[in-house]
Amino acid sequence: MRITGYKSHGVGAVAALVNAVTSADGDDGDDALRAVLAEHGFFVEGFTPATAAALRPWARTLRSFFEAEDLDTAVTLLNGLLTDVPMHPQLSDHDQLGLHIHHAPPEVDLAHRFRATTLMNLAELLCDHGVDRIGVCAAAGCDRVYADDSRGGRRRFCSDGCANRTNVAAFRARRRAR
Ligand SMILES: [Zn+2]
Repeated sequence: MRITGYKSHGVGAVAALVNAVTSADGDDGDDALRAVLAEHGFFVEGFTPATAAALRPWARTLRSFFEAEDLDTAVTLLNGLLTDVPMHPQLSDHDQLGLHIHHAPPEVDLAHRFRATTLMNLAELLCDHGVDRIGVCAAAGCDRVYADDSRGGRRRFCSDGCANRTNVAAFRARRRAR
C-alpha cells in the first residue's frame, strides 16, 4: 500500500489511536496517546494535555469509519470530515526526508496536523482499496479496529494474537466435532 503525504504512517496511527480511545482494553491517558503518535512518526514535541483532549473526540469520530459496512457510508463520512478540517497543503523537504506534502500549514497545532494527515491518508486508502482494508477485529470478544497494509489484503484481525487465538479455537472445535 502506498502511503503518501507526510512521512508518517497516518493510517496505522489512526487505527492505534481509535483502539487506545474506544476499545475495551484501550488506554486513553495523555501519555498513552502521546506514545501512539510518537510510535507512528509524528513529532510530539508540541504534545500537551490539550492535544490529547482534542484527539479523543477525533478517535471516537473515526471509529465509525472503521465500522463502515459499505463504501458509500465511508465516503460520506470522510467527505464530511474533509469539509470540517481545514487543509492547506505545503511541500516540505526538512530533515532529509525527501520532498513530501504536509497537509496542514506549519503554524497549526499538533492535533490539527494529526487530523489533516490522518484524514488524507484514510482518503487515499479508500481511493486505492475501498472498504476491504479496514474493519473491526473478527476475534470473539475483541473490539479493536485494524487497517490492512499487507500485500495480500486479507487481514481480518487486529493482531497476530487475535488471529492465533481464533485459529486455535477453530482447530479445537473441529477436533471435538470428529
Ligand atoms: Zn483483536
